[in-house]
Amino acid sequence: MRRTRNAKIVATLGPASSTAEVIERLFVAGVDVFRLNFSHGSADDHRSRVDAIRSVEAKHGRPIAILADLQGPKLRVGTFAGGPVQLQAGQAFRLQLAPTPGSAEAVTLPHPEIFAALEPGAELLLDDGKLRLVVEGCDRDSADTRVVVGGRLSDRKGVNVPGVVLPISALTEKDRRDLATALDLGADWVGLSFVQRPEDLHEARQLIGGRAAIMAKLEKPAAIQRLEEIVDAADAVMVARGDLGVEMPAEAVPPLQKRIVRACRKRGRPVIVATQMLESMIDSPVPTRAEASDVATAIYDGADAVMLSAESAAGRHPVGAVEIMNRIIERVEADPLYRQFLEASHSGNLPGETDIADAVCCAMRRAVALLHARAIVCCTHSGHTSLRAARERPEAPILSLTPLLPTARSLALVWGVHSLHVEDMASVEQTATTAGVLARREGFANAGDAFVAIAGMPFGTPGTTNLMRIGIA
Ligand code: PGA
Ligand code: MN
Repeated sequence: MRRTRNAKIVATLGPASSTAEVIERLFVAGVDVFRLNFSHGSADDHRSRVDAIRSVEAKHGRPIAILADLQGPKLRVGTFAGGPVQLQAGQAFRLQLAPTPGSAEAVTLPHPEIFAALEPGAELLLDDGKLRLVVEGCDRDSADTRVVVGGRLSDRKGVNVPGVVLPISALTEKDRRDLATALDLGADWVGLSFVQRPEDLHEARQLIGGRAAIMAKLEKPAAIQRLEEIVDAADAVMVARGDLGVEMPAEAVPPLQKRIVRACRKRGRPVIVATQMLESMIDSPVPTRAEASDVATAIYDGADAVMLSAESAAGRHPVGAVEIMNRIIERVEADPLYRQFLEASHSGNLPGETDIADAVCCAMRRAVALLHARAIVCCTHSGHTSLRAARERPEAPILSLTPLLPTARSLALVWGVHSLHVEDMASVEQTATTAGVLARREGFANAGDAFVAIAGMPFGTPGTTNLMRIGIA
């Protein structure tokens, strides 16, 4: 089976989508990457989902990527003695480290790191940004604030501190346990939430030790200040518009989405646009026009993937949401303007940054266009050659061949890549013959069609894309 589109679909699994039957229907409808959200569910819930995904993978003979998304340092207030309280704009409200029963005057905030980083004038957002406080005075274990926007506040609501880089790791104790579970389950991608700096990724990379690829979720303004470094340090990036839109005003999110997608495309890092894409489909069988347009915009921008969250995890129409996303992507990619937009936003390299792989990939892209080649065949171990090919956003689909199953699976996320797990290949001759056979077998080329193959010699050395060969299927 092959997809007839370049951009990929990520779908979150949850109560609405965790039976083996629904997971198979989601895959058939178009899901390339399944997301396990470790903010919810037990290790056993995730294990049974992974089992179902891997059976679908075996049945359909297509590598599927699994993204284990860790909750990250989600900060929360404590509890209230007499139930929810109502905070009025203008009133004083105290946050304190010491555990005390909460009231309309004060509540516990059990995070010493926040107090250490706060300064007068800093803003605190409560309950997804619905309430807003400004710090007037603070020390190491309390903060006196003034309520700017009031409202109802109840037990364990989330706290965001937008302007401040908090001295906390992107991995909490819970995340470390969940990470061990995720690696044990064989997740291909690990999502890190609330990344603030490149060091957060280095720490995770040490723990993961090559067992999974790392996706940085960009949902903090602090991360945007070091965007390029974070994109470099990650294997992929998610534009996590949910929390991003809490930490900054909604109108700040679209320009950032464009900027992040561009930064990732420039570096050849897969980028996912996520959250509220088809939000109304949690209840409704059809999306709003604005939602359809939002998905389309991400595709026109050249994002690698678009994501469903609550729509597929807890909505009434999980399969319908995937079908609609699939149709929107196909329709955009059939539009002649899509090609023009991709070409216009093809950022290329800065002078001085180019290497041999760039030259090979640039030649590949030109050869594909000149010959109207039907497929690009990439031989890869680490996935690097296929990523470099995808970065060109070429006009033919990328058949990615690898002897390593984890590589085959993780590449399911990448724009234009049709990933195949194959036997190791010994020689360029064998590669060229196999490439032609596979291009025909997978339905990409007919006998006599041209294809363009790229690889790195010697095989198995990551980062050495140095070979192009044009073949006839
Ligand atoms: P979440 O991340 O669903 O884990 O919060 C996505 C987002 O914040 O947009
Ligand atoms: Mn988030």
